[in-house]
Amino acid sequence: MDLDAQVAVVTGAGSGIGLAVAREFATAGAKVVIADIDAERARMAAQQIADTGATAVGLPVDVASREAVTKLFATVEEQLGPVDILVNNAGISIDRGVRGITDEEWKRTQDINLNGVFLCSQTAARSMIPRRSGRIINVSSRAWLGWFGQLSYAASKGGVVSATRSLAIELAKYGITVNCLAPGLIDTPLLRREPQEVMERLLTAQPMGTIGAPADVGWAAHYFASPASRSVTGQVLYVCGGKSLYAQPA
Ligand code: NAD
Repeated sequence: MDLDAQVAVVTGAGSGIGLAVAREFATAGAKVVIADIDAERARMAAQQIADTGATAVGLPVDVASREAVTKLFATVEEQLGPVDILVNNAGISIDRGVRGITDEEWKRTQDINLNGVFLCSQTAARSMIPRRSGRIINVSSRAWLGWFGQLSYAASKGGVVSATRSLAIELAKYGITVNCLAPGLIDTPLLRREPQEVMERLLTAQPMGTIGAPADVGWAAHYFASPASRSVTGQVLYVCGGKSLYAQPA
């Protein structure tokens, strides 16, 4: 499970799940890049990790922008070397149901949650292919199976699962694995925005009846990033307390 000196870029790592993934990778010896649209958040998170003695750099990026993504990977290569591990974690949820969602909200959700995965994966893959190694880990959501009132979010996350599978097939011959994490309820600022009654409904429909911690996803990401998963590609690992076992949306 050693990630010694591997260069790992984690998008949206200024907060929540991404930050937990970055911390976990740093503990395993990786050089981590905290890439976030909030530059100050990225800087502070990197500083926290660097204070533990690990190598961590905070860089700004909007994953929905080709220009910003190109600049991010160029800066990483210059400062730390080529990317070995990419975690496409940045994501938003701004749904208000099919009657309420605007064109702009739909588009922004797809731009960040799905197009961002494409832009970062393509840029990373172009650098990984000649080296014939690499790990791409996409953060989807259990919600891709269906979530009441979350049309745009769920559709974007379904796209992430599908992209993972096709990319895994295409990159397998270069020794690059592409896998996907599908968290359920994880205690982060994104989830805390849900109203109390929605939270109660979501917890009732969850076999374990608990909310997961960001570190739970961090450990799963560590597995996909490590040599321990070298024969595993194109897979979806649910970190959702059993929620994916239910057929009905919630
Ligand atoms: P969060 O809001 O705590 O963190 C998301 C981070 O992404 C923030 O730091 C934000 O600044 C950054 N970000 C937003 N837009 C960006 C952009 N365009 N470019 C770069 N960075 C951007 O959320 P979280 O709960 O940690 O979510 C992380 C990922 O996990 C998301 O993809 C989310 O959909 C997924 N997820 C979360 C849960 C959950 O219950 N929290 C469940 C399933 C999936």
